[in-house]
Amino acid sequence: MADYRFALERGGVKHLCPACQQVRLVRYVDSFTGEPVADDVGRCDREDSCGYHLTPSEYFHLSGNNPFDAPKPARKPQNEPEPVQPSFIDTKIMQACMTRYSENNFCRWLCLVFGEDRALELTAAYQVGTSKHWPGSSVFWQIDRDAKIRGGKIMLYNSDTGRRVKEPFNHIQWVHKVMKIEPYHLQQCLFGEHLLTEDQQKPVAIVESEKTAIVASGFIPEYVWLATAGKNNLSKDKLRVLRGRKVTLFPDLMAHDKWREFAKGVSAVTVSDILERRASEEDRAKGLDLADYLLRENGRAE
Ligand SMILES: [Zn+2]
Repeated sequence: MADYRFALERGGVKHLCPACQQVRLVRYVDSFTGEPVADDVGRCDREDSCGYHLTPSEYFHLSGNNPFDAPKPARKPQNEPEPVQPSFIDTKIMQACMTRYSENNFCRWLCLVFGEDRALELTAAYQVGTSKHWPGSSVFWQIDRDAKIRGGKIMLYNSDTGRRVKEPFNHIQWVHKVMKIEPYHLQQCLFGEHLLTEDQQKPVAIVESEKTAIVASGFIPEYVWLATAGKNNLSKDKLRVLRGRKVTLFPDLMAHDKWREFAKGVSAVTVSDILERRASEEDRAKGLDLADYLLRENGRAE
C-alpha cells in the first residue's frame, strides 16, 4: 500500500539534496494529497556521485509516525486531461477562396474530365477553393456535419494530368499554418462530411484522397463520396458521424489490406474489392486508385 500511495514526484521538479547540497533531489509525494512526505524524503539523481535515497517507509520508521495510523486523507481530485477542442476556420476566410477558378489547376483539370458545368457543380458541392499560396493551387476544406470548418488543405495539381505536384517538393500545406493561426488544434473530419446532411438515405462510400471522392462523385452520384484525406486517417472515431448508414470503403490498391483489416471490427462497413479484382500487375506497381480506374473506364485517362 505504501508503495502505491507514495511515489517520486513527476514533472522533473528538483530540490536541495541534504547530502550533496545540490538541487538534485526528487521528492516523494503522497498521491492522496499531492504533498511531499518531508523536505528530505527523496532520491538524489546523482546516483553515482551522491546516492542519497530516503524512502517514505524508512522515514516513517525513523520518525516513528506512521501515516497509516491516521485516517486516510481525502484523495486530491485527479486532473483529468481536458479533451482538446478542435479549432475552426472562420467561414469568411473560406468564402474568400471560392473564386478565381480559371486559375485553379485542379478545377481546370476537372473541366477537362466533366465539362465546365458539371466540374463547377462538383467544385461547389465539395467547396473547393482557390489558394494564392502557390500559383494554381487549390484548397480542400474539411467541413464537418455541423458546418464547422476543421481546416483547409492546400494542394497543387497539374492542370493537364490531374496529378499532384510532388516535385521539387510535395505541395501540401494547411491554411491555418499559412495564416499563422495559433494555437490551432487540427482535428480532421472526413472530407465531404458536410454533404451527409443533404440526403440521409444515400449510401456512403469512402476513399483515400479528396480528388478520388470528387471524381467518383462525378461518375457514380448514387453514393455520398467522402475521403479520409490520408492513408492513415481511417478511424472509428471519424466514422462515428456515419452511424446508421450503409458504408463501403474503396481503398487504393496500396491500402487494401490495411482497410480490410480495419473494416473487420466495424459493423455495417464493407470493403469493395473492385480494384483488387480488376488490377493488372502494372496497376499494382503504380498503386492505382479508384479515380484512375474510373477515368480509364470512362475513356478520360491522360
Ligand atoms: Zn545528492
